[in-house]
Amino acid sequence: NRRVVLAARPQGLPTPQNFRIEQGEVPTPGEGQVLLRTLYLSLDPYMRQLMNEIGPTYAPAVALGQPMAGGTVSRVVESRHPQFRAGEVVLSGAGWQDYALSDGEGLAPLGDMAQPSLALGGLGMPAFTAYVGLLDIGRPQSGETVVVAAATGAVGSMVGQIAKLRGARVVGIVGGADKVRYAREELGFDDCLDRHDPPFAQRLAAACPDGIDVYFENVGGEVFDAVLPRLNIGARVPVCGVIAHYNDQDVPAGPNRLPLLTTAMVQKRILMQGFVILDHYGTRYEEFQRDMQAWVAQGKIKLREDRVEGLERAPEAFIGLLQGRNFGKVVVRVGEE
Ligand code: NDP
Repeated sequence: NRRVVLAARPQGLPTPQNFRIEQGEVPTPGEGQVLLRTLYLSLDPYMRQLMNEIGPTYAPAVALGQPMAGGTVSRVVESRHPQFRAGEVVLSGAGWQDYALSDGEGLAPLGDMAQPSLALGGLGMPAFTAYVGLLDIGRPQSGETVVVAAATGAVGSMVGQIAKLRGARVVGIVGGADKVRYAREELGFDDCLDRHDPPFAQRLAAACPDGIDVYFENVGGEVFDAVLPRLNIGARVPVCGVIAHYNDQDVPAGPNRLPLLTTAMVQKRILMQGFVILDHYGTRYEEFQRDMQAWVAQGKIKLREDRVEGLERAPEAFIGLLQGRNFGKVVVRVGEE
């Protein structure tokens, strides 16, 4: 049983030395437990926050020496739980390891899903995040301009495609020419900008001649600086994440620009609302699943997975994700399906 444990807390961007691969025994399930074999592990930006001493409000920090936490698609290999049978494939949170025990809490059977890894991406949490944030907070209207960064990633690619289905004009922001091409040609975005191409703020302004009505915030940093002056009166800003700041050790140096934000919020009646997707499963998940499965089946939404082979490659893939080296939803194949 291999497991990737947190060896040391990162200072800034994680390095391979922050992780350690350990070998151990495959655990034996007790009464009421199941033994899970990890098939696929999801890598997600929030995991960076779990590596800090104090975790985010919605999840505990990973303790030193413990396996990194994470969503998985797993197979039940042995069951001593009345609700699960051996052989079943389930959505679970087994973390960065080959095997894990579970008392059944939070396990969701996936039935005979054709491509179960999609339960971690285009048919699961990241897509659900896009759905709730965009439709419930962003509320794009036909003809409005929607801007999203990390626009070919797990969440952003869904935000842009759902906004297109709602009749909005979509401008994506990405890192790299191949991603620009994909967003325009495959995802059908109206425009897409490379965030590394200067002068970025001027190019964003030119790409949004009617201003910005919805900015789906995935990144923060220089992208948000360029977006803020372009927001229209009545703009909505679902605040989903700020990946540009996840490695920050401190508040960035420089003049205090908070008044710029708060003044713009008043004058332009801007709605900014943070959300954590865990809060919405009880109320919105069924509707999401119905809509998304139909959109994918009808070819209206495209899914792109960035497949990594082998648990031992999870650390480097995770470090790459934080730097934009991924292209689509990052899923690690850990075991044979
Ligand atoms: P992605 O698949 O989009 O991967 C992350 C991407 O972020 C990278 O590929 C890169 O894209 C971009 N990025 C990295 N650093 C920067 C930077 N400094 N400036 C701008 N962009 C950067 O990840 P996810 O779709 O899984 O996550 C997207 C966001 O959604 C994250 O902020 C995440 O924390 C958040 N999230 C929030 C949830 C919630 O409940 N609130 C749930 C799930 C995700 P590129 O190089 O192409 O620009």
